[in-house]
Amino acid sequence: MSAARVVVIGAGILGLATAYNLARRGVKNVLVVDRGYLCGGASGRNGGGVRAQFSSETNIQLMRESIAICRDFASKMKINVWFRQGGYLFLTRTAERTRDLEENVALQNRCGLPTRMLEPSELPRLVPQLSTEGVRAASFNPGDGVVFPWPFIWGYARAAADLGVTIQPFTEVVGFDTHNGRITGVRLRPTKLSPLDAGDEVLPAGDAFTVACDDVVICAGAWSPQVAALLGIALPNKPHRHEICSTEALKPWLGPLVADLTDGLYFSQSMRGEIVGGVGVDPVPEGINQQSSRRFLTKYSRALVRAVPSLSGVRVLRQWAGCYDLTPDGGPIVGPVADPVNLTLACGFMGHGFMMAPVMGRLLAEHIDTRVTSPLFARWSLDRFARGELVHENMIIG
Ligand SMILES: Cc1cc2nc3c(=O)[nH]c(=O)nc-3n(C[C@H](O)[C@H](O)[C@H](O)COP(=O)(O)OP(=O)(O)OC[C@H]3O[C@@H](n4cnc5c(N)ncnc54)[C@H](O)[C@@H]3O)c2cc1C
Repeated sequence: MSAARVVVIGAGILGLATAYNLARRGVKNVLVVDRGYLCGGASGRNGGGVRAQFSSETNIQLMRESIAICRDFASKMKINVWFRQGGYLFLTRTAERTRDLEENVALQNRCGLPTRMLEPSELPRLVPQLSTEGVRAASFNPGDGVVFPWPFIWGYARAAADLGVTIQPFTEVVGFDTHNGRITGVRLRPTKLSPLDAGDEVLPAGDAFTVACDDVVICAGAWSPQVAALLGIALPNKPHRHEICSTEALKPWLGPLVADLTDGLYFSQSMRGEIVGGVGVDPVPEGINQQSSRRFLTKYSRALVRAVPSLSGVRVLRQWAGCYDLTPDGGPIVGPVADPVNLTLACGFMGHGFMMAPVMGRLLAEHIDTRVTSPLFARWSLDRFARGELVHENMIIG
């Protein structure tokens, strides 16, 4: 392909959902490029949690739409994404976090969610194996759930390709051609996986070439600052490793995804029976790092066994890591920039970009196709940091 109407940079869930929605709107010649393989970024390494329990009305309403899309995804895309709505159970251990939770639940109720606060004494009814020692309060929304991320990505990729989108893995953006404040071309270079690197680093594998384009969307997740820097744009989001692991399969016993807002522990049971979870590990140095550590496994095991003592003998089968794409205020960076005028950003999704992608893909495609900018993009624009108009989200896991 030597020319594209839209070049989407990054074939993670954000890029693929955007490309799929563009194609559904009838936009032709959409090219998605990725320096690695599908599922190589955070989208293939996450916990698959999907929830509407947030602290801002915007996120709550957007997630209601995303959850509705998740519910229909399997029948519409003809792929099983193992979506299970067992709810999310948030736990707090401090007075301050309990106050936050109460305010958030009140807001969620005003937005139409059936979330409710629970006393520690009510928790055994939901999760009998859960230790309530030290827990002050909890919130529960039965409509939250989990998906298996990989088929979600494959579903979008296949549906986008069926609608004519070209998806080119192992193709890295290495530069841009610009003219009069517009991007006129994207410079690409073939890559291959480094055989020596367990973090899935890629190596150059051919000569660079240019694809002319009308529009560009940066959906490069934790790599977005690197890609934007090729245009001289400084993004404030920073990559931070986030680790996760999965146990052997157990008989189904755990309904909700449990998330402790105080120590960052979260865990859920997949449809295949594994306990999948993680925990925040401090301090995590800034930078791209997808390697696993023993420090994480030790902290996670201790936190998990404190929460569910009967899990003490369970074996961990697999441990992996990806990058959270962290912004200074916890909100994403989405929408057009002043220069170049045909660039749209979609990054900085913290630890909840997977669940946001179904609805964000629709909004981004609408914007690129019609040039009508959603008012949400003003809230999430890059220049909010310079204006000091920060957004604050306090329901962040890990
Ligand atoms: C361990 C972990 C657990 C998480 N749990 C959850 C969860 O339960 N629920 C949830 O909603 N979210 C979760 N997240 C966050 C979520 O995974 C991300 O927010 C989301 O996947 C981001 O999607 P993305 O498409 O923006 O980025 P990515 O999936 O990272 O995709 C970006 C892509 O850009 C490509 N790229 C980078 N540079 C270039 C370049 N120069 N040229 C071409 N391509 C390039 C990369 O190869 C990559 O494939 C978790 C994240 C981690 C790491």
